[in-house]
Amino acid sequence: MNLFSLLDQTTARHGDRGAVYLGEHQVHTWAELRERALRIASTLRGLGPAARIAVASENRPEIVEVMFATWAAEAVLVPINAKLHPREMEQILADAGAAVVFASPTIGAALARVSTVPIETLGGPEYRSRCSATTAVAPRHTDPAALAWLFYTSGTTGRSKGAMLSHRNLMAMTVAHLADFDSPDENCSLVHGAPMSHGSGLYVPPYVARGARQVVPASGVFDPAEFLDLCTAHPGCSAFLAPTMVARLVQTGRGRPENLRTIVYGGGPMYVESLKKAMAAFGPVFVQLYGQGEAPMTITGLRRRDHLGNEGLAPDSVLGSVGYARSGVDVAVLAADGRPAAVGEVGEVVCRGDVVMAGYWNDPKATAATLRDGWLHTGDMGAFDAAGHLTLRDRSKDVVISGGSNIYPREVEEVLLEHPGVVEAGVVGAPDPEWGEVVVAFIVGQAPPAELDAHLLERIARFKRPKRYLYLDELPKNSYGKVLKRELRARLN
Ligand code: AMP
Repeated sequence: MNLFSLLDQTTARHGDRGAVYLGEHQVHTWAELRERALRIASTLRGLGPAARIAVASENRPEIVEVMFATWAAEAVLVPINAKLHPREMEQILADAGAAVVFASPTIGAALARVSTVPIETLGGPEYRSRCSATTAVAPRHTDPAALAWLFYTSGTTGRSKGAMLSHRNLMAMTVAHLADFDSPDENCSLVHGAPMSHGSGLYVPPYVARGARQVVPASGVFDPAEFLDLCTAHPGCSAFLAPTMVARLVQTGRGRPENLRTIVYGGGPMYVESLKKAMAAFGPVFVQLYGQGEAPMTITGLRRRDHLGNEGLAPDSVLGSVGYARSGVDVAVLAADGRPAAVGEVGEVVCRGDVVMAGYWNDPKATAATLRDGWLHTGDMGAFDAAGHLTLRDRSKDVVISGGSNIYPREVEEVLLEHPGVVEAGVVGAPDPEWGEVVVAFIVGQAPPAELDAHLLERIARFKRPKRYLYLDELPKNSYGKVLKRELRARLN
C-alpha cells in the first residue's frame, strides 16, 4: 500500500485535466504532476531507506509534488509549519534527522543561519534539475506500516513531538473523509486556505484520489478575500479551515461564494455563537472534525446535515459537540479509574483504529504514556450523550478546580461569548489560597465586569463565575490560531 497509488489512478483516468493551480492559473495537469513527482523521487532514493524529507514553506504548488515524490521514493515527509521560528524549525529537523529540507526562498535564507541540514530552495536551480532527472518507477509493494509522514504536533503543551503516521494511517484517514464528509469528483477543488504543512496538507490524499484540483492561493497564506474569490473562480470548492479562519471569513461581510461546497473546520474549539454566525453567512456548508496529529483529522465528526437537525438548525447541544465516532474508529470515554464512563460522565477521550499513529518518533516514553491498552489516550476530556455525540470539555490540564469542584473553561467561555460586548474570551484558573484555584476571564471586548457577572448569573452556576476579568486587545494564539492558555496563565503573575 502506498499513497502514491492515488495519484497513479487519478492520472490514468484524468491525465490531461488540470491538477495543480496557483491562484486561478493552472500549473500542471495530473500527468505532468505524476511525471515530476517520479523524477524528483528518483533523486531522493539515493538518500537511503525511509529518509526524512522536510518541507518548510508557506503554501506553494511544489508541496504537492514533493509529497508524492517522497512517497514514491518510500521516504518520509516532514512538513514544518512556516510560522515557526527558525530555531524551532531546526529543533524539528534535528529531531527528525532530516536528510534535506525543501524551503521557500525566505524560509531557506533564515534557516541557513541556524541549520546544518542541506537546504534546497523550492523552484530553485537544484530543485529544477531534480524535476528533469530520469523518471523513477512507481512503487509497487510498500509495507502499509511504512512511515509516510512525521507529523509534528503544535506543541501547546511543550516540545513538539513527531507523530509517526504510516501509509495505512493516512489511507484510513482518506477513506473516512470520503465516507463521512465529502465526496468530491474531478469537477471539484480543494482550496488550501490553511497551512499545507498540517490540516490542509493532510487533505491532499482524499482530493487527489478523486481527481479534484489542488488550488494554492497566490499569496501563500490565508487571506479571507482571496480565499472567497478562489471559491468563485474554481468549481466545487472544499477547504479545511481552523475555527479562527472561519471567523475571519464571516468578518468580511461577504456571503457564500458561488462554488463553495464544503468547509471542514476543527483542530480547536468552535464556539456555538461563532458557528451560528458562520452558518447564517455561508449556509449549510460546514462539517466539523475532531482529531489530533496522533489520529489525523479522524476521531469524531459532525456532518453537514447534523448541523441542520430537523428544524434547519440543530440544537446547541449538538452544535457545541464534536459529533460522533468517525467511520472505522472506536471512540470511548474512560473515567479516572479506567472504566468506561457513563452517559454524561466526563472522562478522558480515547480512540483506536487504523488511523492511530504507531507512536512518537524517537520518544518511547511519550509513546508508552499515550498508547496504552490498545487505545490512543488523547488528553482531551469529554462526555458522550445518549445519542453518541461527544462534547469536549477541556484538556485535563486546563480544567479549573475551585473549592473541589471542576469548572470547564469552555463552558464559561461559551456563555461569555453570548454577550454582544464580548469578541473573544479565554478562561483560566489562578492559584488561590482559599479555593485552590479561582476562575479568571480574559476578555477581548467592551463589556464591563458588572454586566458580565449579571449575564453569567442568569445562565450558569454561581461558582463558575470568574472572580476577575482582565481585558486584552487580543488573545495570545499559536501559529495555528489556538489560544495559548499557558500564556494567559503567565499573565496572572
Ligand atoms: P493537534 O494535534 O495539534 O492538531 O491538536 C489536537 C487537539 O486540538 C485535540 O487533542 C483537541 O484538544 C483540539 N481539537 C481538535 N479538533 C477539535 C474540535 N473540533 N473541537 C475542539 N477541540 C479540538
